[in-house]
Amino acid sequence: MPIKKYCSYTGCRVLLDEDVKYCDKHQKQTRDHKASRDREYKRNRNDHKEQDFYHGQAWVNTRDGAMSYYFGIDIFKYYTTGMIVEATTVHHIVPIKEDWSKRYDSNNLIPLTEKSHQYIHNEYGKGNKKQMQDILFEMKIKFFMDYRVGVQKTFETL
Ligand SMILES: [Zn+2]
Ligand SMILES: [Zn+2]
Repeated sequence: MPIKKYCSYTGCRVLLDEDVKYCDKHQKQTRDHKASRDREYKRNRNDHKEQDFYHGQAWVNTRDGAMSYYFGIDIFKYYTTGMIVEATTVHHIVPIKEDWSKRYDSNNLIPLTEKSHQYIHNEYGKGNKKQMQDILFEMKIKFFMDYRVGVQKTFETL
């Protein structure tokens, strides 16, 4: 008569061979749980990395540089409505979650109001990310052609 023992999951009364730790159901559950814990851990670690980035002096300087380059206005609002509205945030067109190397890249930055920013992130979330990004990159080129060609002080030197 081989020795049997209970599944190691608390309260489970499935009898198993001595060398088997969990019943099929709890084997799977434990594995899934560990996978989701690993995912959660990784997410938290990335969130911390991002928070540190946004609080860093290097980002504050880069952000200020982008603001002054664009005269502190919401470029998306300006090119969609013609209205000049003060920007309050600087958006990463390619999110830093997707490309960490572009976090200080002036080519990836555009100043926005919170309202435009939310609108753009909504579009990203609705599956229009590529379209939206193309629009923003085009606006940056347009701004450069409209207001920056021939201006000595370039963003890179700020
Ligand atoms: Zn079990
Ligand atoms: Zn953003």
